[in-house]
Amino acid sequence: MYRIGIDLGGTFIAAGLVNEKLQIVDKLSVRTNAPRPMEAIADDMASLVGELLERSGLRRGDLAAVGVGVPGTANRENGRLEDANNLDFDDEPFLPVLEERLGLPVRFGNDANAAAWGEYRVSGRREDSFVMMTIGTGIGGGVILNGKLWDGVNGAAAEFGHMTIRYDGAPCTCGRRGCFEAYASATALIRQARERMATDRETLLWKLCGGEADRVEARTVFDGAAAGDAACMELLDTYTTYLAEGTANIINLFQPAFLCVGGGVSRAGEALLAPLREKTARRIYSQNAKRNTQIILAQLDNDAGIIGAALLEP
Ligand SMILES: [Zn+2]
Repeated sequence: MYRIGIDLGGTFIAAGLVNEKLQIVDKLSVRTNAPRPMEAIADDMASLVGELLERSGLRRGDLAAVGVGVPGTANRENGRLEDANNLDFDDEPFLPVLEERLGLPVRFGNDANAAAWGEYRVSGRREDSFVMMTIGTGIGGGVILNGKLWDGVNGAAAEFGHMTIRYDGAPCTCGRRGCFEAYASATALIRQARERMATDRETLLWKLCGGEADRVEARTVFDGAAAGDAACMELLDTYTTYLAEGTANIINLFQPAFLCVGGGVSRAGEALLAPLREKTARRIYSQNAKRNTQIILAQLDNDAGIIGAALLEP
């Protein structure tokens, strides 16, 4: 049986047909064009599903499941999508509307949780505990304990980005101060790079972004450090220290067999993971344990959300 997973993002709605080997065999996407009414987004999802079925010659009855990862809180009790701030949705009856459009039962979950579930299932790691930390615009995550995704009482579990790492620190989008993501998200790294550029005309960052600070990305800082730029190396040293503070907190809480790092910043690979592993090891409580959490790199990139959504359980 096949499954369809849909990743509802702030920029794209991506849908994929997933086979029994957990591979995406066909994929389609359309622009989200938020903000617009939830019904219009459900219409687009129904079209994507219809097109995937048509292209593969499958019928609705050939699908074992359709699942959607949503950028907010997925309330499984009533099918409502809550707190999807990026889409300008407040509290929408998302699941009933989508099921009516599709004529199929649909499962849904938070997008970061779905991505964690996808990485866990595809990784083939049989260990019971697996925590994913996704570093992008914010910092999201997902927790798998005893082989099951831990949603929390209301579907909002594993919001790692909103744990405080500095009391009374930088303001966060959630209304608190000093949150992990205010220091260690891609957005935070970009802000730190621009602050450095404002006082440092010599850094290679200026050349790498063509003289326009607006064009700095997280990757630009890694590129500068790889080229030996001192300012970029200092920025990354500070950034990975912030990241290690939060990562050590997560490990202290769960002591998972694996902590998997994904999201846009994780594309830096070992340039990110090597300092993160080293700094985290010095911060965790269980430093002398014979066995400690392995910090690993996500393998699925953007496909994790689609595969995880397809595999969501009712
Ligand atoms: Zn916050």
